[in-house]
Amino acid sequence: MKSHAKAVVIGGGVVGCSVLYHLARAGWSDVMLIERSELTSGSSWHAAGGFHTLNGDPNVAKLQAYTVQLYREIEELSGQSCGLHLTGGVMLADTPERMDFLRLAHAKGRYLGMETELITPSEAKSMFPLMDERHFVGAMWDPVEGHLDPSGTTHAYAKAARKLGAEIVLRNRVTELTQTSDGTWKIATEQGTVETEHVVNCGGLWAREVGRMAGLELPLLAMEHMYLLTEPMPEVEAFNRETGREMIGVIDFKGEIYTRQERNGILLGTYEKAAKPWSPLETPWDFGHELLEPDIDRIAPSLEVGFRHFPALENAGIKQVINGPFTFAPDGNPLVGPVQGLTNYWVACAVMAGFSQGGGVGLALANWMVDGDPGFDVWGMDVARFGEWASLRYTNAKVRENYSRRFSIRFPNEELPAARPAQTTPLYDIMVRDNNAVMGDSWGLETPLWFAPKDTEPRDVVSFRRSNDFAPVGKEVRAVRERVGITEIANFAKYEISGTGARAFLDRLMTNHLPKPGRIVLSPMLNEVGRLIGDFTIANRGPKDGIDRFMVWGSSAAQIYHMRWFEKHLPPDGTVHVHRFDQTLVGLSLAGPKSRAVLEKLVDIDISKDAFRFMDFREMAVAGAPCMVNRLTYTGDLGYEIWMPPACQRQVYTALKGSGAEFDIVDFGMRALLSMRLEKNFPTWFRELRPIYGPFEGGMERFVKLDKGEFIGREAAIEEKQEGPRLRRVSFIVEAEDADVMGDEPIWAKVGDQDFGTVEPTHGYGAPRFDEAGRKIAKAGTSMVDGAWRVVGWVTSGGYAHSVEKSMAQGYVPAALSDDETTGLFEIEILGRRCPARINVAPLFDCEGRRMRA
Ligand SMILES: Cc1cc2nc3c(=O)[nH]c(=O)nc-3n(C[C@H](O)[C@H](O)[C@H](O)COP(=O)(O)OP(=O)(O)OC[C@H]3O[C@@H](n4cnc5c(N)ncnc54)[C@H](O)[C@@H]3O)c2cc1C
Repeated sequence: MKSHAKAVVIGGGVVGCSVLYHLARAGWSDVMLIERSELTSGSSWHAAGGFHTLNGDPNVAKLQAYTVQLYREIEELSGQSCGLHLTGGVMLADTPERMDFLRLAHAKGRYLGMETELITPSEAKSMFPLMDERHFVGAMWDPVEGHLDPSGTTHAYAKAARKLGAEIVLRNRVTELTQTSDGTWKIATEQGTVETEHVVNCGGLWAREVGRMAGLELPLLAMEHMYLLTEPMPEVEAFNRETGREMIGVIDFKGEIYTRQERNGILLGTYEKAAKPWSPLETPWDFGHELLEPDIDRIAPSLEVGFRHFPALENAGIKQVINGPFTFAPDGNPLVGPVQGLTNYWVACAVMAGFSQGGGVGLALANWMVDGDPGFDVWGMDVARFGEWASLRYTNAKVRENYSRRFSIRFPNEELPAARPAQTTPLYDIMVRDNNAVMGDSWGLETPLWFAPKDTEPRDVVSFRRSNDFAPVGKEVRAVRERVGITEIANFAKYEISGTGARAFLDRLMTNHLPKPGRIVLSPMLNEVGRLIGDFTIANRGPKDGIDRFMVWGSSAAQIYHMRWFEKHLPPDGTVHVHRFDQTLVGLSLAGPKSRAVLEKLVDIDISKDAFRFMDFREMAVAGAPCMVNRLTYTGDLGYEIWMPPACQRQVYTALKGSGAEFDIVDFGMRALLSMRLEKNFPTWFRELRPIYGPFEGGMERFVKLDKGEFIGREAAIEEKQEGPRLRRVSFIVEAEDADVMGDEPIWAKVGDQDFGTVEPTHGYGAPRFDEAGRKIAKAGTSMVDGAWRVVGWVTSGGYAHSVEKSMAQGYVPAALSDDETTGLFEIEILGRRCPARINVAPLFDCEGRRMRA
């Protein structure tokens, strides 16, 4: 074993081998993988080997598509077969709601270039004759699904990596990690010590233990998972004989079952409701190539449904039941990337679908390590998406919930209950008990979403369509627009950046000029390649003892993500201090034409229009409590953001409510806030603004000062401006019926043969064609074209804008189409119905911004 390598990957499962291969392919040949036992000694060896491209997050779906197309490449390079069976598969809907879910998935697939197709139960039966079609109302066909040989695939990655110069050391457990003051990692192993610049935790079932070696508690948990293999079935053999084809893969949501052909029998796996964690606190080091005791009783409810839906299975002999553990993060997506607070400690773990996701995970991580950027929008699997609140117990509750809901519908207005409340503000009991709030989980914090009428149960009726919050949210919005309202904004991220180097530091990170003392600016933040990685409100607190102090507010969910970036760019001389407040600073937003009248009764300074102007910042006592006040709100109305220590929040809230009583002040929630921003065409972080868009594409040019001097991403931004953005964020008015957009819907335009080149199929593997009689399949590209209509873009978010009474959407379209306000050009596909839509350039509410400046 070498004593030094540029990077060391710990763990030889499918993920570690993929990371190793991608590092070597990217040109880092001085890389080493250390495996405790033989390759595939964790979850990888007993996987069912299924793969598919669909994922709730389109960006993760893209990386899954990449994984599938990669298999041919590693087979060729390694000479090792992955045992690919590209059969295609169907998802079966047993209810109209499930069919709506499939319609959404199908529509989303269009702009990803996926060739899915909605089909009838009898069409599904022609490909999987074991099913009784009477139990289903429809199905979705996906040609890019299948199964492979898990061990062959892992070895194919490993052999391909070796060919590119990587070293693999087997039967050698990593026992300890230490980092020296120059950043070098010392990896103690059973066979000696290796020094390296980069450590990659691909420990799979032991990823928690490998995390603990560096002082981390990673939010992941292993769950037991069972699948069974039948004896040969005459029905399967007859189908193979008659058609010359293998049976396809099937997901039956009702039964929480996935099934496919295995040899001349059937493999059937379940995601049962009675989910069971495995080794919840610690994974034993002596666990090896062994299986867990099967527990048929636990999966009996799923099997019962399965036998009804696929009657031939009931009579099939069961050859073997496999029960093995594999790991999940609280939301079911992988944990990938550099860990905040450590240098060059990377993770690629909690990969629950290693054979669908392993390639994409390896590619993104290798890009990140080699180029400093993952090259894709990997937010959905970034390890930074969880905060300190994602403890062992939180993870346990959430992973069990996620596992047992794997095949359940997640409605767009659905808040999941496990591990809640995790964090609350001092107003929690007032909101819940007195105000009848329906609460939501905002990065681990309970936040009011909307307020149910008195004497009604405060809960969402979950739906893809407008639901029971529609009228109350409308009432909240109108009250703010006509009078005044108050809402909690503790769920924003808040930082103070101070020190003698603070100004220079922020100036280098932000695209806008920094504000003068007492003033506020809005500023995007870019990465080196000029993509949007942040959008902040920055206030200058003024110097104290000659030291600059800036308050910075951003997206709560991006706190760790942004801290990681800030830390990466901190000067080494200690002249900049970044403090993240998290819940040690909480806030209230007061908005509406009467908001000044409400606030001025509670303060001792002049806050008249000219004394406290739009975008001013002041520290002032509000109802006697020390507060920081920003004269702005996300509602786009006259208003204030008021920040205070938690101990003062009740006092300030109560005083504001008392002062506002004469104006009939209302509480409003996040849903009303998001509705109001729609009619102002304001974007939101992680929906409209993401690391795949440039600032000009995102419509942020007002805040990008190319002439201010150097800042990160400036060169790329200049280039984007000179070449002109390819895409533009636009706002639409949609002729919706009873459902508004939820995000990720395709945008159609009547553009004939004009090619805008922006929507590219991601299936490099190519949709397979099966032309046998009886099998209906889509031709490549057909899902994006319909006569003169083409899918030209995608929706990022939207909803109903209550005060202007319009259904609205925001999304991205080719720049050439972005200022076309003509009707009849666009349609947005909502739940299978293509709704006419019109671009709306000027905000529908207060387009000149007079209200916020009043
Ligand atoms: C029953 C079952 C069915 C499944 N079916 C599918 C499926 O159909 N499709 C799919 O995509 N996925 C499936 N999975 C999930 C799949 O197995 C995992 O996603 C995948 O194996 C994860 O791979 P990994 O490399 O992250 O982890 P692992 O396979 O657990 O690999 C981790 C490796 O790290 C090594 N290691 C850990 N700590 C150390 C250390 N300190 N020093 C040295 N080495 C160390 C271990 O020995 C192990 O080899 C299934 C899983 C199970 C249990």
